[in-house]
Amino acid sequence: MSYDKVTVPEEGEAISLADEETGELDVPSNPVIPIIHGDGIGSDVGPAAQQVLDAAAEATGRSIAWMRVYAGSAARDMYGENLPEDTVSAIREHRVAIKGPLTTPVGAGFRSLNVALRKRLDLYANVRATYYLDGVPSPVTNPEAMDMVTFRENTEDVYAGIEWESGTDEVEQVREFVEAEMGVDDIIHDGPVGIGIKPITEFGSKRLIREAIDYALANDRDSVTLVHKGNIMKFTEGAFRDWGYELADEEYGEDVLSEDALWEEHDGDQPDGTVVVKDRIADNMLQQVLTRTEDYDVIATMNLNGDYFSDAAGAQIGGLGIAPGINRGHGRALAEPVHGSAPKYAGQDKVNPTAMILSGREMLEYLGWSDAADLVRDAVEETISSGKVTYDLHRQIEGGEKLATSEFADAIVENIDELA
Ligand code: NAD
Repeated sequence: MSYDKVTVPEEGEAISLADEETGELDVPSNPVIPIIHGDGIGSDVGPAAQQVLDAAAEATGRSIAWMRVYAGSAARDMYGENLPEDTVSAIREHRVAIKGPLTTPVGAGFRSLNVALRKRLDLYANVRATYYLDGVPSPVTNPEAMDMVTFRENTEDVYAGIEWESGTDEVEQVREFVEAEMGVDDIIHDGPVGIGIKPITEFGSKRLIREAIDYALANDRDSVTLVHKGNIMKFTEGAFRDWGYELADEEYGEDVLSEDALWEEHDGDQPDGTVVVKDRIADNMLQQVLTRTEDYDVIATMNLNGDYFSDAAGAQIGGLGIAPGINRGHGRALAEPVHGSAPKYAGQDKVNPTAMILSGREMLEYLGWSDAADLVRDAVEETISSGKVTYDLHRQIEGGEKLATSEFADAIVENIDELA
């Protein structure tokens, strides 16, 4: 495939699908990996992550042929558009990619490019691993109890983006339809109104929950918790929960048990190798993540709940500077940190690149390079626990050495070399 303004690095090979059914990848030892540095602090954290991932690949006998692709402000400069076809095609063709943050204007202007990318590639699962690294300051007493992976649905719910602005003809038509045709009386107050629609499908729910259960089984996790607000939104969030239990029952046989079955059939003693599926109401879950952290493992939830929940969980292990993510679907993955473009810190060589680096770690795991992924995690932990940190962590710890983004990346690379 040829691209308009970017070239494929000559030294790299393309990743392909080894198995159509399972989506298993065939990964060469020198894959081409597209990277978007992103807006704002993307120009700081992008190169730092590349440097660390290169070191981990090299230390494990591999190499990454980076293919720089563009979105957001860099793409506007080069292509005159926010999300060029080159970028989408490169990720589609090369299957596994990584990106930094992209700015979204609030209220007006273009819709989120992050959402557009996930939608165009149908990366339906946003997976956020939340685990504690020794030495990271935390607001809770036992941060080491946190070890969760959140599967957040990426295409429906508020991300479907079906909404109409107050004062438009469209919103008045929707109001009239809802009131006159659907018999919804005396509920929408008179005067200006904005209306949104929240679709939750059986298809979207089941493929997300399947991804979460498969992950739990493959990684020896004890449970998958379906987080929903089905007590209030019965036909959307309640349906998500019901479809989750239905899927577990239909597709997994004795490998997956409900919480009721665990107690009724096994007296609470979980058989080895099984996964328990349970559910919690979203508001309760935001308490439980603080008070009963160790009871939870893999979380499967819809888009908006997943956004709130994963940020709350991330706060316990060091917050936005740390929290990694990866979007997955159809044998493709796009790693990205949870944080945004933090424009006021852009280009200052100051912010914490850990979230972008650990997103890269998720990407290495996805490639099946577990040894390189573990090396990244261990080297980041070693660096932070020795007191070498960026400004955000430095102001929360006693002593320690405050490093610039690039110095912090250098320190991690040194630790990779020592640990390898
Ligand atoms: P943000 O995550 O960019 O920044 C909020 C604050 O968190 C910053 O002011 C900073 O104090 C801290 N922070 C974030 N990343 C950090 C890092 N790596 N190291 C240290 N501190 C860090 O959130 P925002 O201000 O709400 O959003 C700014 C822009 O980013 C918006 O346009 C938003 O739409 C976009 N955004 C993009 C993504 C994405 O690309 N996936 C995600 C969230 C927000």
